[in-house]
Amino acid sequence: MSSYMNSRFRNLSPYTPGEQPQGRKYVKLNTNESPFPPSEGVLEAVNRSEAELLRLYSDPTSDPVKNVLAERYEVEPDQVFVTNGSDEALNYAFMAFGEDGIAFADVTYGFYGVIADFNGLRSRIIPLEEDMTLDPDKYKGIHMACVIANPNAPTGLMVPVDRIAGIAASDPSHVVIVDEAYVDFGGESAVRLIREYKNILVVHTFSKSRSLAGARVGYAIGDEALIRDLETLKYSSNPYNVNRISMAAAVAAVKDGEYYRKNCRTIMENRAWTVEELRKLGFSCRDSLTNFVFAEHPDMDGRKLYLDLKERGILVRHFDSERISNYNRITIGTREQMEFLISTIRELQG
Ligand SMILES: *Cc1c(COP(=O)(O)O)cnc(C)c1O
Repeated sequence: MSSYMNSRFRNLSPYTPGEQPQGRKYVKLNTNESPFPPSEGVLEAVNRSEAELLRLYSDPTSDPVKNVLAERYEVEPDQVFVTNGSDEALNYAFMAFGEDGIAFADVTYGFYGVIADFNGLRSRIIPLEEDMTLDPDKYKGIHMACVIANPNAPTGLMVPVDRIAGIAASDPSHVVIVDEAYVDFGGESAVRLIREYKNILVVHTFSKSRSLAGARVGYAIGDEALIRDLETLKYSSNPYNVNRISMAAAVAAVKDGEYYRKNCRTIMENRAWTVEELRKLGFSCRDSLTNFVFAEHPDMDGRKLYLDLKERGILVRHFDSERISNYNRITIGTREQMEFLISTIRELQG
């Protein structure tokens, strides 16, 4: 660190993204990307004439994206906030609504703690239950904002949406942020609650179910007043936050909804197959509502399994934190990829 670094940031420990190897070709099951390409409509939208327009600034309102999303989710365009990846939406939401602190689980998306620190907010960690489910009652009476990944990563488990409503109802003076990055793989969305509960903010991404991780597009849906606050922060820091090419891709992706729904169904089928095979191999593996599974084996060390798979060309995600160090989070890919995973583990077991 240089001696010029603002003292406020000297103790930041930044998020460690999953490996993105640029050399060796791995079967990449470590960052929950889609194994399927973007839809034809997206490939057409990201064309030469859009590239020629790159000399012009992108639309700071993101209205084209807001309009298609509003139609898709049956909300108003001014109830939608469009961002450069959903990580940016989370950052603005913490910044805007986290003044009294921000509560989240011990086993959840690792970025929450980082952006809380980044914004100088108090984090309150609420441990998951013994079986890794989340007890919504523990989020009542805390007098601060909270963020719940629903379904959760890396556990793959979901809190029923009416329990989320219960948290919001218990304290109308704080915001409940619901991170639904994985909701399209069998979960239930809280979007329908935003009219009744002015303090629920739902965050979505194009990175997982819509095959656009590299485009960096996310959005938040909530009451107009919440969205206005987020817009104020955006226009105070990065007004042109979504680039032209990504915006064109996002609009086309929403229009091609059927293609992505079909891909999600395929992932869910491959997930069912993978869970069954992993259990046959002795893994304990909960029923997941996401595009990954979280698995551990009583006789295989989690970190060693991660390294052995890597050596054989398969990348999965291992987390060193103590409570989950025996687990690996495995993205669900194509059927062929999952067959390769299972046969490789079988070989490792000898
Ligand atoms: C992947 C992920 C995100 C971030 O998605 P981006 O839109 O790519 O920034 C947010 N929350 C959770 C829980 C995720 O797993």
